[in-house]
Amino acid sequence: MRVSLPPVLLRAARAQLAPVARLGSSEARMSTIAAGQTVPSPGAPPPPAPQQPHHQATTPQQDAERQRRARRILREAVAATAPRHDWTREEVSAIFYQPLMELAFQAATVHRRFHNPAEVQLCTLMNIKTGGCTEDCSYCAQSTRYQKGTGLQAKRLETVESVLEAARIAKENGSTRFCMGAAWRDMRGRKNSLRNIKEMISGVRAMGMEACVTLGMIDEEQARELKEAGLTAYNHNLDTSREFYPSIISTRTYDERLKTLGHVRDAGINVCSGGILGLGETSEDRIGLLHTVATLPSHPESFPVNALVPIKGTPLGDRKPIEFTSMLRTIAAARILMPATIIRIAAGRKTMPEEQQALCFMAGANAIFTGEKMLTTECNGWDEDAAMFGRWGLEPMKSFQKSPAPAGDVAGRE
Ligand code: SF4
Repeated sequence: MRVSLPPVLLRAARAQLAPVARLGSSEARMSTIAAGQTVPSPGAPPPPAPQQPHHQATTPQQDAERQRRARRILREAVAATAPRHDWTREEVSAIFYQPLMELAFQAATVHRRFHNPAEVQLCTLMNIKTGGCTEDCSYCAQSTRYQKGTGLQAKRLETVESVLEAARIAKENGSTRFCMGAAWRDMRGRKNSLRNIKEMISGVRAMGMEACVTLGMIDEEQARELKEAGLTAYNHNLDTSREFYPSIISTRTYDERLKTLGHVRDAGINVCSGGILGLGETSEDRIGLLHTVATLPSHPESFPVNALVPIKGTPLGDRKPIEFTSMLRTIAAARILMPATIIRIAAGRKTMPEEQQALCFMAGANAIFTGEKMLTTECNGWDEDAAMFGRWGLEPMKSFQKSPAPAGDVAGRE
């Protein structure tokens, strides 16, 4: 029998304790402080930076040795000329907990080796089937479980014509990737819908745009059909660490998500898979997510970093916003761990000041969602983003242009 309490409530108390139990070292203290940054006690002063722990259990020599090891891990990671898939948890942790300015600087260095740092991919996301989803993702307005509280009206699958019209508008405004999201658990028994979605994909590709869909879990055959229709990328987020995941979703497992990613990869479709920050997870959970994606057989072509947008009526509707430093730290660590991947600032960008976005671009983010809406939440508009690009000397990435910059070519791009 399934207990129907919102799973996130069950995790809250142990979230802060887990890192200490697991590590018992200066790393444990760093984790605990970092976790405290995410979920501060009401009225508490800001905690110190995670890279400057106060500790009593280890000697200064042991601490100095740990710091030396962490610096060596970072140095070697930054010097790498090709993506690695054999990261240990200790290495991910050592990179993640670097002093933030150093981490951002080193991530920017890696970014310049693998990408043109002036280019940012513009994607537009359309909700092609709204609400009525049987899953219980605690952050999502589209789950039927929270419909009473959110008041979201479910809608059937949009027509092919209306979707292609929206894609045309997105293209006219400069977007090069068009993402189509449907609120479904999976694609079982949805033959007609799949046929229409394949038409949408072909239509988007015929406009010269990259096509991405997110439809829930899919099997090998469905992945193959989507590939044949011309699908560029399939989005299926892991959301968070394996350990924290059951606190957020109970209706499908982490392994089921990984299985879908495997079907997508095997079909030759680019994998887009990322996380959501601000769910109540600790820094250790962010490290767990990064470790999982950075050790997949191939890195996701795209890693979206979402900041939770709390929606009233969902179990996470009252959560406080994630600190910007946690967002920047996650983006910078992801850039070093997955140097060739496109890192996408996804949900939550609407409330980020422009200077914060610029810091993210400097530290390795190179894609955004732009347009009118992101599924059920507000999105920065095309004009607003074009003006920002002008101020910061950024330019839109062209379709299918994800070409790494030549090694050593930091400033001299044509
Ligand atoms: S996130 Fe996706 S799978 Fe989860 S409830 Fe929302 S629409 Fe359904």
